Amino acid sequence: MTEEQKLRIERNKQDAINRRMDKKKLEENENLEMVIQGVLNELVSRCEQLVELDIRSRARCEKCGSSKIEKDYLDAFGVKACKSCIYNNSEYSLLPKSDLAKKYLLGERHIKDLKFMKKSNPKKIGWNPMKLYLEKQVSELARTVWGNQEKLEKELSSRKQRKFQSELLKTSDALKRSISQSENILQSATTADTKRARKANRLKEMISIVRGDNVK
Ligand SMILES: [Zn+2]
Repeated sequence: MTEEQKLRIERNKQDAINRRMDKKKLEENENLEMVIQGVLNELVSRCEQLVELDIRSRARCEKCGSSKIEKDYLDAFGVKACKSCIYNNSEYSLLPKSDLAKKYLLGERHIKDLKFMKKSNPKKIGWNPMKLYLEKQVSELARTVWGNQEKLEKELSSRKQRKFQSELLKTSDALKRSISQSENILQSATTADTKRARKANRLKEMISIVRGDNVK
């Protein structure tokens, strides 16, 4: 083996060692990066929790300024209100979904972004939880949909009127049908009576003939 060949083999060997070391270093760096990223994520999450806690601790009831705000309302609706104000103000009432359509004429497309609170259904265990909406937010939405309270009430009243008329029409149709049925029954009863009367007369005649009443 020439001196040059020996040198080349030695160089190749050294290159292979260097490559292995580079690869190991790279892996170590990647692992380190992952660890750092994990620690950073944890730190960010803790900071967010602290900020949230700070916001909550400084939160005051929007009505009376009390620091005892209801967590459920803050979480569900982003509304800061204390128990007493919630109890005493109808704007904090909770509405079932059906009321949104009935009272405010709001359909599925209107309420898709509206916040709600989930409560277990008191009617039956195992049913889907109820979605409850905040009266205050619902009425605000209704105002943007209908313009103002007056327009909403006008629409409510005209729908009520239309419903009443349709009910009236249905009732009057049903009444007409029922009268006509009664007339038919009466008619057939009279016919049957007439038939019975004729039969009775015929029988009487026959009895008379048999008894010789008409025979002189
Ligand atoms: Zn309050």
